[in-house]
Amino acid sequence: MQTQLGSKQNTGIRRNLAIELLDKEKRRQLLHTDKHGLLDILKYIYRPVLKNKKIVAASLGYALTAGVLPVLSVFIVEILVRLLSQSDASPRMLLMAAGIYSLVFFVCTAVSTQLKNRNYSYFMDLRVRYMNKAMEKFMTMDYGLFENPSFLDDAGNWQRSLQSNTSGLEGTYHRIFEMGGTLISALFLGGLLIMVSPLIALVGIVFVIVFYLVQRNITIYKHERREELLRTARRAQKFSGEASDFRYGKDMRLFKMEERFQQAFQPLLQAYEKLYRIFTRRELQLSFIESTALVLIDLVSFLVLASKVYSQSIGISEFVMLLTAVTVFTQTVQQFAQGLAYIKSETLYVGDTIDLIEANLISTGGENHIPGTGPVTIELKDVSFHYPGSDRMVLEHLNLYIPAGEKCALVGVNGAGKTTLVKLITGMYQPTEGQVLINGVDASTIPQEELFSLFGVVFQEVQPLAFTIAENVAASDTGIDRDRVVDCLKQAGLWEKVSSLPKGIDSPMLKVIEDDGVVLSGGENQKLSIARALYRKGTRMMIMDEPTAALDALAEEKIYREFDEILSGKTALFISHRLASTRFCDRIVLLDGGRITQQGTHDQLVKEEGLYQKMFIAQGKYYQNGEGEETA
Ligand code: ADP
Repeated sequence: MQTQLGSKQNTGIRRNLAIELLDKEKRRQLLHTDKHGLLDILKYIYRPVLKNKKIVAASLGYALTAGVLPVLSVFIVEILVRLLSQSDASPRMLLMAAGIYSLVFFVCTAVSTQLKNRNYSYFMDLRVRYMNKAMEKFMTMDYGLFENPSFLDDAGNWQRSLQSNTSGLEGTYHRIFEMGGTLISALFLGGLLIMVSPLIALVGIVFVIVFYLVQRNITIYKHERREELLRTARRAQKFSGEASDFRYGKDMRLFKMEERFQQAFQPLLQAYEKLYRIFTRRELQLSFIESTALVLIDLVSFLVLASKVYSQSIGISEFVMLLTAVTVFTQTVQQFAQGLAYIKSETLYVGDTIDLIEANLISTGGENHIPGTGPVTIELKDVSFHYPGSDRMVLEHLNLYIPAGEKCALVGVNGAGKTTLVKLITGMYQPTEGQVLINGVDASTIPQEELFSLFGVVFQEVQPLAFTIAENVAASDTGIDRDRVVDCLKQAGLWEKVSSLPKGIDSPMLKVIEDDGVVLSGGENQKLSIARALYRKGTRMMIMDEPTAALDALAEEKIYREFDEILSGKTALFISHRLASTRFCDRIVLLDGGRITQQGTHDQLVKEEGLYQKMFIAQGKYYQNGEGEETA
């Protein structure tokens, strides 16, 4: 355990987490440097709680009012039995005792329930705050980590600990809050029983320890197998997500894929069942220890109390009271022990989530800054790259220099590695070998935010989010410059469509949340993506990966006409498989077999014997035959 949870620092060593964390031991080192003790985790999660005096006061108030109730019920038994066994018992006294008891009971119940309800939303709020932190981690961590299923299984513990009101972090908060009451009851009743017989209290304490150890054993056993469980759960979730996702709906129906889906579920269910059978077997084996301890506590108490009645050291009313006290004490102690075991169990997962929240999962992020202003130079120096989990080199010893302000086109056949190159330049992935330099500075030593803010990127596959159009363009929900949004939509050629919508730029997108959500066509989504890249202020390089692939000829033509304006003052990398559309660029670079094999202007390259010329001729023929588009 680190002395302080949350002190993991970037060591400044150049890393490639997407590859590094494929290794189980490295994953363990980064995410679970040391085992967290229960107290460390409690200290961490109670930091904000302890600062809130109202909540602390309410917790104490609850503990007292809820904790006193079982104690009252024990004493009222003694009073009533004593009054009833008196030969001159007066009904008035009986009524008065019952009345006072009812009143105190009512007040304590009302106050404790009030306090509990009030605190409930506070703990829920805390959970949501931690959930946001975990989400932020997923949204900022190295993109390549999404390709590491073992990492995702491990990191997926956040769901186990943050997605429910009744388990994980929030469950722990509620349980500890309630255990305040249980503790007060146990202390009062334990105190009472110690006065009568320390043996009974001792057996009670032994019971707490036995119960806790048994539960702890089961809990740790389950936690050690969490990766297996999560793996199965994640796959099941993925299948059910896809089965209910509208985007897969067409293929699902036309290709009758539902049977295949049902089949895929079967092994998952079996794996689940198998794991749970193992857990249940262990629970069964250990449960008899608990039962024995429970029987023992009851037996010892009864024998001790009966012997006291026999030796006339206590009367019948005290015997009844103490027997009730033992029963309530046993229940309370059992509840307390269950609570402890629950907390131990849940905090194991909370500890994993804290590890995730505190881990540094960004490979870039040194302290270097990009000098100067305006367009940047990009240099790829001897860059090699393979995707995490795959040995196939996509790029090999690639060298490319793009001077500031150049409009460079990158062409190549499908799968040549063009998009991969974009991912490396933008810092989504780290090269496996070599360096990406921006204005001469190694990109991996630049803080991630600064690096990302350099680029206006239009990716090939466009994924609008379920926000409004304006929010999608501005990539923000505050401080949106509405005029700028409209200008960018106009430039991208989407304004005509958006202005025809009843809510204009405030139209919600997608149908997953709003009934009137707008669903755009592939080409329109691409225009939206162009508008977003244009909206971004301060970008020093524009990267467009097949920005016009889904556009019709007219829309494409309009974008090209405006490219000079769109790209002005920026370095530009433009990827297209339509060679005709790269003519406006200063230089065309051809990627083949993981390397740059040809470069020059369009006029130079068509004259040069090589792949570019072949591709150009093939595309030309295709157009001339009027059969549609080329396949290169
Ligand atoms: P292009 O953009 O030139 O069509 P890509 O850069 O998308 O090519 O892909 C280059 C190669 O890398 C392809 O063989 C592709 O199968 C592979 N590839 C792309 N993405 C991944 C990934 N996430 N994991 C493993 N291999 C990938």
